[in-house]
Amino acid sequence: MGALLAALADLVLPVSCAGCERPAEAWCDPCAAAVAAWAPARAVPRPCPPGLPPVVASGPYAGPLRGALLAFKERGRHGLAGMLGSRLATAVGPGPVLLVPVPATSAAARQRYGDHMALLARHAARALRARGVEAAVGQPLRALPRADSTHLSVEERHRTAGAAFAVRPGRLPAVRDALSAGAAVVLVDDIVTTGATLSAVADLLRGNGISVRHAAVVAAATLRRDP
Ligand SMILES: [Zn+2]
Repeated sequence: MGALLAALADLVLPVSCAGCERPAEAWCDPCAAAVAAWAPARAVPRPCPPGLPPVVASGPYAGPLRGALLAFKERGRHGLAGMLGSRLATAVGPGPVLLVPVPATSAAARQRYGDHMALLARHAARALRARGVEAAVGQPLRALPRADSTHLSVEERHRTAGAAFAVRPGRLPAVRDALSAGAAVVLVDDIVTTGATLSAVADLLRGNGISVRHAAVVAAATLRRDP
């Protein structure tokens, strides 16, 4: 089913809340209030992969936030993009910023009704600008075709994550221009688990002369609250 059909299905079929499955509402008030009550916090994977930039998560990968992310990614509920993008924006920090989404593989993008992180990054930038924070989205990266990594061990994931992305050389000058104009590069992703992907992407950017201030994610599978 394509993105348009999924969006239409959301409109015409009886829906349930993505957070708690209460019928008849796509995203209910109690779930919205529960998610809005979380303050962003540092997420530190254990073990922490070398080269991982500081990671800030808008909340834990649990409860209604987990439900909303799953519905958005796996069931094409793109009506949740605004809410999830606003959550992501809370983890971004001061501007000016250039948000760089971790790219979806083309297979994942087909399966998931489009490049969901590019969509979330655009919504996050919009939410930031609405608060007066200068924010833009840059996409200097592309994902390379690769096998599914879900069955791999943590060590294997670290090894394969490095080979999973490449830069788009034509997109680098715009990123360098933003940096020299004073913007900070913030990597954005949906969920941090082992941190392997974020550290690989940060390494790749660093190798091309682009430093990453931090990574902002919607949810962290392991969330530690720093004082
Ligand atoms: Zn709910």
